[in-house]
Amino acid sequence: MRKTLFLVLCLWQTTHYLQAQAPAPASYHANSRFEQMGTQLPTPNTYRTASGAPGKEYWQNRVDYDIKVEINDEKQHLMGSESVTYFNNSPDELRYVWMQLDQNVFTKNSIANLTRTSSVNERGMPMSSTMRSMIDKDYGHKITAVKDPKTGQPLRYTINETMMRIELVAPIKTGQSASFQIDWNYNITDFRFAQGRSGAEYFAKDNNFIYEIAQWFPRACVYDDVNGWQNKQFLGQGEFTLAFGNYKVAITVPNDHIVGASGELQNANQVLSTEQLKRMELARKTFDKPVLIVSQEEATKNEANKPTGKKTWIFKADNVRDFAFATSRKFIWDAMNVELNGKKIMAMSFYPKEANPLWGQYSTMLVAHTVKTYSKFTFDYPYPVAQSVHGPVGGMEYPMISFNGARPEADGTYSKGTKDFLIQVIIHEVGHNWFPMIVNSDERQWSWMDEGLNSFMEYLSTKEWDRDMGGDVAEPQNIVEYMRTDPSKQVPIMSSSDNIMGFGPNAYTKPATGLNILRETIMGRELFDYAFKEYANRWKFKHPTPADFFRTMEDASGVDLDWFWKGWFYGTQPVDQDLTEVEWFALDTQNPEVNKAEAKKSAEAKRNTVARQRDKEYIKESVVDKNPDMKDFYNTYDPYQVTENDKKKYETYLASLTPDERKLVESGLNFYTIKLKNKGGLPMPVIIRMQYEDGTDSVVRFPAEIWRLNDQDISKVITSKKKVVQWTLDPYQEIADIDTENNSFPRQPAQPTRFQLFKSQGIQRAPNPMREAQQNQPPKTGQQGGAKN
Ligand SMILES: [Zn+2]
Repeated sequence: MRKTLFLVLCLWQTTHYLQAQAPAPASYHANSRFEQMGTQLPTPNTYRTASGAPGKEYWQNRVDYDIKVEINDEKQHLMGSESVTYFNNSPDELRYVWMQLDQNVFTKNSIANLTRTSSVNERGMPMSSTMRSMIDKDYGHKITAVKDPKTGQPLRYTINETMMRIELVAPIKTGQSASFQIDWNYNITDFRFAQGRSGAEYFAKDNNFIYEIAQWFPRACVYDDVNGWQNKQFLGQGEFTLAFGNYKVAITVPNDHIVGASGELQNANQVLSTEQLKRMELARKTFDKPVLIVSQEEATKNEANKPTGKKTWIFKADNVRDFAFATSRKFIWDAMNVELNGKKIMAMSFYPKEANPLWGQYSTMLVAHTVKTYSKFTFDYPYPVAQSVHGPVGGMEYPMISFNGARPEADGTYSKGTKDFLIQVIIHEVGHNWFPMIVNSDERQWSWMDEGLNSFMEYLSTKEWDRDMGGDVAEPQNIVEYMRTDPSKQVPIMSSSDNIMGFGPNAYTKPATGLNILRETIMGRELFDYAFKEYANRWKFKHPTPADFFRTMEDASGVDLDWFWKGWFYGTQPVDQDLTEVEWFALDTQNPEVNKAEAKKSAEAKRNTVARQRDKEYIKESVVDKNPDMKDFYNTYDPYQVTENDKKKYETYLASLTPDERKLVESGLNFYTIKLKNKGGLPMPVIIRMQYEDGTDSVVRFPAEIWRLNDQDISKVITSKKKVVQWTLDPYQEIADIDTENNSFPRQPAQPTRFQLFKSQGIQRAPNPMREAQQNQPPKTGQQGGAKN
């Protein structure tokens, strides 16, 4: 309904002044949502500044490794020896060094196994838990020596689960280093039972293994200004906290194996054939598609091999925080070059024939794509190689190398889901080179700092691969289902990694979506992209904390986001804006021609009741009709006629207005009071679409600070020349509003939820139209059949 608005023009200024002085209205709801975070963030210091940048006394320790490792393909066993040099750049003396023994997480009595809660009922138990509970393998790091490399003297050490403390002969003083040697071995985990982020996969058909080797050598813990030693136990979920250093790794394997590893191969001449070296040279000059170094035919032939000896592959990796490798005689190997601002990077993939045709077509192209897109949004990829390996691990990242799943079916066909997963997982895992491999956050503590930021980057990169992809990880509508769950049963994103319930949302999609909302809705792309790039550049090859991220994003953009960090990262409340009412006003122009005509119309409408319509038939003649004596002045008086007096009054009114006031009075504007309720709790910008009478529409946006004086009920006046027929809040679904039924005014009938009638049927596999299409083709030799392996 439209109401008439009496605009008291001359009192405008005074009223405004009076309102500013007036006490808060009764509906006022005090809130601290827009207060600064204050002590919720750590106090800035000379290591980490209030702007979010590293301070002038920022320091970090460095650890170099010289490792010799041998894989026993008969026994699935790894034997290693490492010389570790620990550089102490901290202001403190270090009497001992903590090392991580990650393989100990697989021992039967590890904290991880003992504290994993489980239950079994009549309906069953997940296969993975069942298998895990049946593990009876001798897994875990076996430390055989810890010694001073110069004197050969043994060093005292203590193993506490997945951590090992080595006592040094003398404390390492500031600016000094110490070296020690560790010898160890362990049984490589069978991925089927142990799962995790590394392991061996057995291919029964050709009696061969693929090894994906990670968390394999005793790795130094980080000692920093935030935690001292980060020696929180490895429980499986919270990943790794690692220092930068230079690596030289010599990997000895059967001489028919192909090895891919973190770092650059140093002795290609010794381990590759002349033909392979020639192909590698060609790959160095090829930028459009991968060149095969080992073809599928050659790899298939290798599967039948018996090795005639061993070969040692030597790799060097500088300024990395970890080292992983993969080895198998089953590997197909392809490579191409990526040019990035004059720097050349080898993009490579290693995969068995079981991964084709999907992998040959996509993997290396995706590695190259990821290197280019991530570099654009952050900083140029600094390493010489970037690699993707297919084996048992579903998706895991290491410096310069990643392990990725997504295997086609045995007949070579695959579902769209498998293809999409391949694209997303390779972009994601190669993308981890930036977060956390280079922007080296503490994964043991904060999963979102690498998974969240990387999922957001994956979203941007995937869309550049295929515009129609990439919505899953960061599109606001996709987090709604999680945000609808009971906030009291959620944990905030800012929770310690091992304590996170809802790991998918809280480590990956909620932080990624938050960044997407910041970029698209709250900050805008220009301010966001600049600040995000600034964060990446400030902290590349360093160790950032959440506060460094939060502060840098504000420092570089000039946008106060404390309310957002508090709500989205430290809180669990959802967004639910409710458009409760819209009141419609029009200015009273005081023009008697208009006003009296409107008054007449509405009086007639009021009198035109059903009873009165019936009376026209029923009362043929009234008393007044019959008796002229009963008539007087009022029988002919028309109260709606505009009189001379009315006209004069109107002219006097118009004469009293300034030209600007007159323009406003004559504008014919509609005034709408929009009333909003914040039902969810989390404030967000208010975005409203107005659909007009004439079929056109427009969108207005108000920043989240519209809620700063009252975080529950607000109203806002919107003026419009055109008449609005429909109001819609958040029309593009960009703020993760968990209830869209209360987003329209007038309310729109809800869409029915469709349901299917099920006939009982077995477990549905993901649809694979490619197989159907092939089955409809006349059979080709070599294309059909084959048992699944
Ligand atoms: Zn990840």
